[in-house]
Amino acid sequence: MSRIAYVNGRYVRHADASVHVEDRGYQFADGVYEVCEVYQGCLVDETRHMDRLQRSLDELRIAMPMSRKALGFVLRQTVRRNRVRDGMVYLQVTRGVAPRDHYFPTVPTPPSIVVTAKAIDPAGGAARAEKGVNVITVPENRWERVDIKSVSLLPNVLAKQQAREAGATEAWFVDADGFVTEGGSTNAWIVTRDNVIVTRPAEFGILRGITRTVVLEVAAREGMKVEERKFTVAEAKAAKEAFNTAATTLVMPVVRIDDSPVGNGAPGSVATRLRAAFHDLAEMTKIR
Ligand code: PLP
Repeated sequence: MSRIAYVNGRYVRHADASVHVEDRGYQFADGVYEVCEVYQGCLVDETRHMDRLQRSLDELRIAMPMSRKALGFVLRQTVRRNRVRDGMVYLQVTRGVAPRDHYFPTVPTPPSIVVTAKAIDPAGGAARAEKGVNVITVPENRWERVDIKSVSLLPNVLAKQQAREAGATEAWFVDADGFVTEGGSTNAWIVTRDNVIVTRPAEFGILRGITRTVVLEVAAREGMKVEERKFTVAEAKAAKEAFNTAATTLVMPVVRIDDSPVGNGAPGSVATRLRAAFHDLAEMTKIR
């Protein structure tokens, strides 16, 4: 079955899907995106993802390209047309197509919108979660507005590639004071020796992950102790557990940070419990 993409009002063959060479997303990374999980035929946490999309667009002063209801329809339609039961849907909105100039376009310019969907075998994620993943640490070198989910991801791309070349799957950015901010495409967490779950506050320096928000709720429901505070690389290396969260990887245990095994070097019970309970508290809306 050939894949289908939604591009500016039309469903087209994925292989033929394209935007103009002067799309500002292409030339300036002048746009934002969202990634939602599709789980057992449901869209996961649509409301929160749409709220964050609206916030990102507002921060960049890009107009919402269509009503939320219409956008919800396009997301579902794209998932349906690609027959995705488990996987992800990707949504990107840019400031649109205009002659290349750093200033915003002076004539009314509709935002560009692209939606794609992809099936992902859940067994792959489950197998990775059973083994755990390795992370490396890299100096934080991103701009201050990482709270905006912008498509400007070059530092993240370089950090994650460095991780891959070091035999890891994720890179944790570390700020000038030695505190972990977040991963290249995930939020970072540890569990202390006293069983306290720790993650950096989302007010500054990280993206407020939707998975992070739901995991905080899961932890509260499970009666686990949580502290939203910064933690250092040294504290993470001495922790009982560590894990990452993101919409497509959910709760992913971290078993090695640089050259140090975390805890006993195997996925911990807290991360495993949070992963198992995640979909109980996430918002699920049927696609069909
Ligand atoms: N932090 C960064 C830099 C990300 O790119 C992502 C996801 O892509 C996350 C955190 C996790 O966010 P979410 O849980 O909404 O997927």
